[in-house]
Amino acid sequence: MPELPEVETIARGLDKRVAGDTVESVWIGSKQQPLKSPAGVIASTLEGKRIVRVHRAGKHIVFDLEGAARASQPKKGARGVRGQTRQAASLQRSAQWIVHLGMTGRMVVCEPAADLAKHTHLIAKLASGRELRFIDPRMFGKLSVHSGGFDPGGVEPLEVSEERFVELFRRRKTPIKSALLNQKLLRGVGNIYADESLFRAGIRPRRRAAAITREQLGRLHRAVREVLREAIALGGSSISDYVDADGEEGFFQLQHRVYGREGEPCLACQTAIRRVVLAGRSSHYCPKCQK
Ligand SMILES: [Zn+2]
Repeated sequence: MPELPEVETIARGLDKRVAGDTVESVWIGSKQQPLKSPAGVIASTLEGKRIVRVHRAGKHIVFDLEGAARASQPKKGARGVRGQTRQAASLQRSAQWIVHLGMTGRMVVCEPAADLAKHTHLIAKLASGRELRFIDPRMFGKLSVHSGGFDPGGVEPLEVSEERFVELFRRRKTPIKSALLNQKLLRGVGNIYADESLFRAGIRPRRRAAAITREQLGRLHRAVREVLREAIALGGSSISDYVDADGEEGFFQLQHRVYGREGEPCLACQTAIRRVVLAGRSSHYCPKCQK
């Protein structure tokens, strides 16, 4: 499942490839599961729009769009009507297309002649002649459109100040690991990076957030940002594989220090890494380095 660094990498790759291009037409498949906005609304919002920028918000890919939708060209008419039409058209001018990749979703930029992958749910034909395709075998991905100001909730972990970070967690009675995964607090921190951050901060996943000292929360704040930044830096070198080709290639990943290493020696102290299940998710930690 793509986590924040992967989504950031994909969004940057898409921005590099399609920013400035215009969506000419949109084809949407018959499967309803990936559609969070009605198919007709997604198509009419995208068609005729210029892609200003592609960026990440939490684990969502956000396409900032600009330009009146093709289907709603203002018509000539009575003054009052024209006024209304013009207002409707101006409301249409900026919009956002939100893509959540779910577990297996991917976005591909390709030539129209490229083989159509199974489970392709959307094809946007671009003015440059290329196509932007959304493919998702398991259909946990989501597509929606917004009239602007999309807010995924929570605070962006790469931008949060130490003070704000401490405020988010200091009174929480839940285990710190669960609090890190709570998307209403920080958006986009997933299981792997939560475990890796807790290891670097020396905090056990089951510790109650409220029981962690101010100083340790400060350390955790730095660890979360450090882990995500390192992963983004590594991901940057594999953009082209993921976005351009068929997307099967994975990312260069951080060498995990605890995640998925149950029973293996801790890279710092040789103690065997342990695994506990917290709220249905595996958590990995070193019983010696983490208190
Ligand atoms: Zn250790």
